[in-house]
Order: sequence, then C-alpha cells, then structure tokens
Amino acid sequence: MAAERRKPAARPRRAAATAKPELPGIGGAAADRLAKLGIRRRFDLVLHLPLRYDDETRLCPLGEAQPGAELLVQGEVIECDIRYRPKRQLVCRIRDGSGELTLRFLNFYGSQVKTLAVGNPVRVYGAVRLGHFGPEMVHPRYRVLDADAPVAEALTPVYPTTAGLGQDSLRRMIARALAGESLAETLPRPLLDALGLPDFEAAVRLLHNPPPDVARATLQGRTHPAWRRMKFDELLAQQLSMRVHYRRRRAAGAPVLAARGQLVDALLKRLPFRLTRAQNAVLAQIRADLGEAHPMQRLLQGDVGSGKTVVAALAAVQCVENGYQAAVMAPTEILAEQHYRKFADWLGPLGIPVAWLSGGLKSSVKKQELAHVSGGEARVVVGTHALFEEAVVFSRLGLAIIDEQHRFGVHQRLALRQKGTQSTRGLQPHQLMMSATPIPRTLAMSYYADLDVSVIDELPPGRTPVATRLVSEERRDEVIQRVRDACIAGRQAYWVCPLIEESEKLQLQTALDTHAHLQQTFPELRVGLVHGRMKSAEKQAVMAAFKAGEVQLLVATTVIEVGVDVPNASLMVIEHAERMGLSQLHQLRGRVGRGAAESTCVLLYQAPLSALAKERLKVIYEQTDGFEIARQDLNLRGPGELLGARQSGVPMLRFADLAVDLDLLDAARDAAEQLLREQPEAAKAHLARWLGGRNEYLKV
Ligand code: ADP
Ligand code: MG
Repeated sequence: MAAERRKPAARPRRAAATAKPELPGIGGAAADRLAKLGIRRRFDLVLHLPLRYDDETRLCPLGEAQPGAELLVQGEVIECDIRYRPKRQLVCRIRDGSGELTLRFLNFYGSQVKTLAVGNPVRVYGAVRLGHFGPEMVHPRYRVLDADAPVAEALTPVYPTTAGLGQDSLRRMIARALAGESLAETLPRPLLDALGLPDFEAAVRLLHNPPPDVARATLQGRTHPAWRRMKFDELLAQQLSMRVHYRRRRAAGAPVLAARGQLVDALLKRLPFRLTRAQNAVLAQIRADLGEAHPMQRLLQGDVGSGKTVVAALAAVQCVENGYQAAVMAPTEILAEQHYRKFADWLGPLGIPVAWLSGGLKSSVKKQELAHVSGGEARVVVGTHALFEEAVVFSRLGLAIIDEQHRFGVHQRLALRQKGTQSTRGLQPHQLMMSATPIPRTLAMSYYADLDVSVIDELPPGRTPVATRLVSEERRDEVIQRVRDACIAGRQAYWVCPLIEESEKLQLQTALDTHAHLQQTFPELRVGLVHGRMKSAEKQAVMAAFKAGEVQLLVATTVIEVGVDVPNASLMVIEHAERMGLSQLHQLRGRVGRGAAESTCVLLYQAPLSALAKERLKVIYEQTDGFEIARQDLNLRGPGELLGARQSGVPMLRFADLAVDLDLLDAARDAAEQLLREQPEAAKAHLARWLGGRNEYLKV
C-alpha cells in the first residue's frame, strides 16, 4: 500500500518521499536516536505513547514514605557527602517536619554535589526502598524547588527512550508534533460508537497529557478507553495491510486445477489408512481452492504427526491430474529426502514420476533431474532450497507446497512463485504452506491474516502418548543405563546433543564427542551420528540404517527436529533441554511415540534453573498438545520467537497485547473487511496514518 498521496504535484516521486525521514526541525543526531525508537515521520511522535505515568500531583510527607511506593517528596538537604564504602557514591539526606529520607547516587557529577548543597530545598521523585539506615531512594529524579512551588496538575508521562534522548526533549518534540499534525478522525463514527471507542484526537491527547482526574490504574493497565482506541487502531492497521496484500495476490490469475478425482481417488484407495475427519476437512478446502482461477494462499497447520504430508500429496495429485507440475519444498535435506520417499511410494504406483533436487546431488544426476523438470516428464518435484536455484526451470508449475514454511524467508517463497509464473505465461502457482509449529489462534489471526488458515486438529488414532521425564544432569549415568537397556531390548533411541547457539563449531564438536563417548560406553550397540555439517549422502546412509534398525542409537544435533519418522524409535534423550525453545522441544519429542510402543522423552537439564527455564520445562512436562504449548510459550516469551523467519516482515504490535485484547482483535478483523469493502478511502487514510511508507513488507 502506498503512502497517502493527496498532492501528487508536490510529491512527484513517491520513493523519495517515503525513504527520507520526515522530521522537520530535528537534526541529525536526534533524528538517529528517534529512528532507533522507530520514529521516522513527525506523525510517529504522535504515536509514541507513554510507557507509564509518574504521579507527581501529590506530595508525600517524609514520615509517611513507605518502602515499595513511587512518591513525590520534598525536604531540605541536611547532609551531602561523597562516601567510598562500599564504593564511591554520593549520599544525601533530606528532612521535612515529619521525617528524613536518604538519597543515594552511585554515578554522579560534580555539579550534583553543588545542587544538593546543605540547606537547599529539593523536590524528589522516585521509588522508596528500605536501606541500612531507614528509607531511601536510589537515583531519584530531583529539582531544587521552593517548598511552596505548585505540584503537577496531572500525571507525568514517561516515554520509551534511548541513550542520549532525555524525557524532557522527547516531551517537547511530541508536544510540537501534537500541535502541528492533523489529528482528524480516520474512522467512521458508527464503527467507533459500536465499539465504545473515543475519537482519535481525544485519545492521543489524553494519553500524552492525562487530565488530573483520570484514574492512574486505567492508564498504567492500558484499560482506559483511550488506550483501547489506540490498540484497536494498531490492530486495524495490521489487519488492513495484510488483507490488502491478500486481496492483491488474489487478484492474480492461477491455473484452474479442478477436482477431477481419478488419481486422487486411486491414491486414497491405496493408502494403508483412512484419513481422519480433520484431514478430510482440510483436504476438501484445499481441493476447492485449487479449482479456482486465482492462487490459493493457504496455511495448513497441524501438530507434529497429525498427517499433513498425505494431504499435501493428495493436493499434488490433483494438480498433476490437471496437467500441471507440483513442487514440494522442505527446509532440511533429511526432511526433503523423507518427503521424496513418501511421495515416490505413493505416487509412483499411480504412474506419476517424482523428481528429487537437493544441493548434495552429483552434478550428472542433477543435470538429468533438471532436464526432467524443464521437459515436463517429472510431474512432482521434491527438494530443498535447491528448488529455487536459477538453474531450475519448470515446464508448467501449478502448485508450490512449502513445508515448515516459517523456516523460509519471504524471498525464497517469492522466488518459487516467480518460477511458476514464468512457466505458465503469467499465471501464478497455487501455494500450500505447512507448519507443524502450531501457533495460538490469536497469533494466527493476527500474523497470518493475509492467508487462509486450515488446521488439522486431531491426531490419527492409535498413538500412545509420550511420557516426559525431567532429569538433572547429575543423573546422566542412570539415563545412559536406561538407554542401553532399551536398545538391548530391541528398541531404538535418539540422543539429542545440546544446542550451542554461540558457536556452530562447538556444537559440532560436542556432537562428535558425545558420539565417541556413547559408542565407547556401548560397545555392543551400533551408535550412529547425524549432524548438519555432514554430506547429504552420509546423512542419508545414517538415516537409512537407523530406519532399518541396523543402528540402535542415533546421536543427533537438532537437525532431526523436523519431520523425521522412524516408528520403532521410542526413547529420546535431550541434553540441556533448558536451552531449547518450547516448540523445538515439542517438535523433537514428536519424533518418538510414532509406533505402538510406549515412548519416553528424557529432558536432561543443568541445575540450577532460572525461574523462566523452570516455568518452560514445566509447560513441556505437563502438556502434550502443541497448541497449548504454543499458547503458554506466547505468554512466557511474547510472539517474536513463535513466528520464525516470517516475523521480520510483519510489524510487531506495540500497544495491543494478544493475551488480553482478543476482543479488539476480533473487532479489528471484522472492521478491516468492512472498510475495504465499503469505505476504501477510510482504509487508505488509516493505513497512511499508522504505517506511512512502511507498508511494503509482505509481498508473497
Ligand atoms: P506431520 O503432520 O507431522 O507432517 P506426517 O504427515 O509425517 O505428520 O504423518 C505422521 C505419520 O502418520 C506418518 O507415518 C503418516 O503416514 C501417518 N498417517 C498420516 N495420516 C494418517 C491417518 N489418517 N491414519 C493413520 N496414520 C496416518
Ligand atoms: Mg511433516
């Protein structure tokens, strides 16, 4: 969506108008600091809302200053010394008729010693705590002021800021923006009335300059109607921009891949199982989408093991039935390879040739596969990132299936789409994205509002739940013993090495060491090793040996996180589980419990655990439902980590909190559709106000 362009003559080049900062009267250094806060236009200052409010409207007598409270007090300086124990600091005491208070400054300037000279009257704002010598404030704000100077009439806003930018200068800049910018209403009155929301102008003015009588708790807690208005506006801008992108992509043409049925039915008949109710439901949606003349943009979500692959295969078959090619892209070699095998098993007998493309192929083989793809003999192409390399030319790409979509960047998906468009003279391929990282409904509604979302919300029957054990690293030997017993009894096990984010090299070394050590400990077992740095042929050989039961214990880095499917493996040990994300642990755990045997996942942790780590391990210990885990993860850590690569493109919410503002999100979603349909001008004005030129983020 373009920036609003009311006067085209005055702004001949939109790129120039949106690229350079629009902060009149604010110079280089300050502009840089503002940019750090995300403030690029003067209007962004209007939208830079307080983090909290200080109450400087009432003076508290020193004798009543209770520890724990943030208070405004005043008194006369009766003592001011630089002390050296335990370290250099300025310690000052003030007194009024009712009591005394210590002020402590661990960093201070010489000028402060002068202002706080004995006998001066000072007014101080800060949090009171109990020090060694009674109540004190550490690093309070203070001013030299006569005792009868008036107190503030209203709450004092405190803004998010950055080094070198003080509250006072920020306040001045915001005040100027409030005076200079148009705060006219962008939204229809009936909509606001229905939601009980105030005018935009009234809301921003109140939040920047709260009147004396407003209840502080409703501002701090962001429940005041003015806050709700800003949250709603923010959510609405997000919904609008995503729906605009959705509509724009939908306007393109796509090949009609009608549900003919012959091959799809043949595959359904050949499967060794019946689809679950949930699989059937999403399949019906996908089959209908494919039959339309505009591109499908569907995200298929389903917990680990819910059976997304077969749904994808059935979609691919419908594409093939219509004379088009389908591409299946997966983020890791192991996963792509596994898909390839499954697709070849299912589709081969139907006479559908499946090609395989990965970075690790020998160049002669690769050349041959590429020729099959461009010549059209290959009807389905499975591969890794290699699929969008330049050398890959499709003959007629009708459907792109992207597994673990959050692992791919926007550009990678765009590249695949462009290849499709080139191969079909301008028609865009349908897109089916899949994700086994379930995200809560609120997040999906918010961050995937530019997609249609289907959910497989049940697991195939007959799965035994995985028992999870939390075990301290100190009991590692017992765990090793247990692994041995299980393997000797004919079961198979994974041993997952710790994630070492700081150093890939160290991570690799740890994996090598662990493998050597376990092989030495278990001379009677075959211990395999798989890690991300291995050549793909080596990886394949190890995985095949594990699948065939020749290797009993597989030491692995987190490369096995996604998709690996070996039903006989029923024990998993994860080292340093406290370092891993919850969804990652859930994915890893999903590698066991795929067969009929009772499965166990042992989470080894290094004590002592931080409070957050304890909370998180408790979640994974107690919950088996990926959606519930994701919901609790969201509460513990916020949305950033759950969204993966995609998040870079989507603006994060600053004001709205998806954990509490669900009603506003619902309302914003409905309002976005309605505005785009009935009042596109209002939608445009709203987007310009909230996103300005920054709305070019989601192109795929
Ligand atoms: P995911 O959704 O994690 O990608 P998969 O597609 O790998 O899950 O499916 C997990 C396992 O369940 C596979 O072995 C698959 O063949 C099997 N499966 C899929 N659908 C069903 C079903 N309806 N009934 C029984 N087993 C199924
Ligand atoms: Mg899968």
